[in-house]
Amino acid sequence: MKDDCLFCKIIKGEIPSEKVYEDEFVLAFRDINPAAPIHILVIPKKHIDSLAGLENEDKEYVWKIHEAMNKIAEQENFKEDGFRVIVNCGKDAGQEVMHLHYHLLAGQKMGDKIV
Ligand code: AMP
Ligand code: ZN
Repeated sequence: MKDDCLFCKIIKGEIPSEKVYEDEFVLAFRDINPAAPIHILVIPKKHIDSLAGLENEDKEYVWKIHEAMNKIAEQENFKEDGFRVIVNCGKDAGQEVMHLHYHLLAGQKMGDKIV
């Protein structure tokens, strides 16, 4: 964990969050400024700066995040209708919080795809 990291503070419970899912590897909570009716952030319970900072030893976290997103989609009842996953990495993508996080967006027909 990193002392000055917002999401590490959320993991440690020093900053409150609206938790949606938690296991040994992953925490998921609602985004404070939602961009869709359902907007959940899924993060590893280990400080990893960004997708570009992933190491081989982190691969279990990556799988667990993907597994958690499927569990959340079932739990929150949007698996059938679908969802969008976004990871901003670095400055050109506008990453603001330097702790790897997956945006899980659902609950509406999404706007135009970029890719
Ligand atoms: P990014 O721009 O990809 O780094 O995304 C950071 C996200 O974190 C944004 O969507 C913010 O709304 C969200 N965020 C910032 N602070 C909090 C917080 N305390 N609780 C929940 N979400 C937050
Ligand atoms: Zn962190």
